[in-house]
Amino acid sequence: MAAKIIDGNVIAHKVRADWRAKVDALRAHGTEPGLAVVIVGDNPASRVYVRHKTKACAETGIRSEVVEFPANASEAEVLERIAQLNADPKVHGILVQLPLPAHIDTRKLLEAIDVRKDVDGFNLYNVGSLVAGETIFPPCTPYGVLCMLEYSNIPIAGQNVIVVGASNIVGKPMASMLMKRDATVAITHIKTRDLAQWTILADILVVAAGKPNLITGPMVRTGAVVIDVGINRLPDGRLVGDVDFEAVKEKASYITPVPGGVGPMTVTMLLVNTIKAAQRASGLDVSDLDTRDLAAA
Ligand code: NAD
Repeated sequence: MAAKIIDGNVIAHKVRADWRAKVDALRAHGTEPGLAVVIVGDNPASRVYVRHKTKACAETGIRSEVVEFPANASEAEVLERIAQLNADPKVHGILVQLPLPAHIDTRKLLEAIDVRKDVDGFNLYNVGSLVAGETIFPPCTPYGVLCMLEYSNIPIAGQNVIVVGASNIVGKPMASMLMKRDATVAITHIKTRDLAQWTILADILVVAAGKPNLITGPMVRTGAVVIDVGINRLPDGRLVGDVDFEAVKEKASYITPVPGGVGPMTVTMLLVNTIKAAQRASGLDVSDLDTRDLAAA
């Protein structure tokens, strides 16, 4: 059986079109959604990510501003600027592009963002809300995975989900979000003994480890849904995920490619979180405790 490919570009396009209409409604209501991206230093990958984000904002009708600091900027001056952005009514979402230079305390900056503008969902208040099942800002990458499952009409409730990778930005929030949808979830990580013994149990396997070919054909149950979050650059320049795509697609029922899978969804969900923040700020009704409205949008 060859798996159906879940095309992240196609779904991202649909979601953006749906949410573009919500931006138009907001504008008609007198609110222009606004995102501020804070970047410190000149990490080339960070600059590429920030460009993608601002381009996506422009395409969706969101105003964006990039607040740049040199690599030697002090923590205090960045904090002061975040305080100004918190107070600025034209800014509905604030994100700090990571990683930050070593002399800056990342946690301190993330905690300085107003929780109502924390569109990356990394502030501890939003992390805790996610665990309690009530966040208003689901972190963008796992939110994108959830959206892909929903747009593909893949059932989640009652399914066995194995998440490979336990990071704060992908694995852990992914597990919380799927538990909220009544899946039975286990998280595995680098210290997990006999990974295959776990992955073979998965109806839905979400892999976010950052290791090419970690998941091979025999590790996947026939008919499983396989979501590959990994992004790895091989020495020959190719971009691959964590899953042996060619082998696993012969066993899975659905699979995401890399590139063109989860990647395009991450930026899309940042747009969604920003638009929701603007809706909330302008007093419009927003179903912010749930993401189920996505598929119906
Ligand atoms: P991380 O390094 O913070 O965490 C990796 C996790 O995987 C850890 O919990 C670690 O224990 C686990 N792990 C590593 N090797 C393993 C192994 N051999 N077996 C089992 N578990 C293992 O990484 P992250 O930030 O969560 O990112 C993970 C991957 O996802 C990376 O390739 C990253 O580039 C990618 N990513 C993609 C997107 C996207 O938009 N598509 C977004 C974020 C991260």
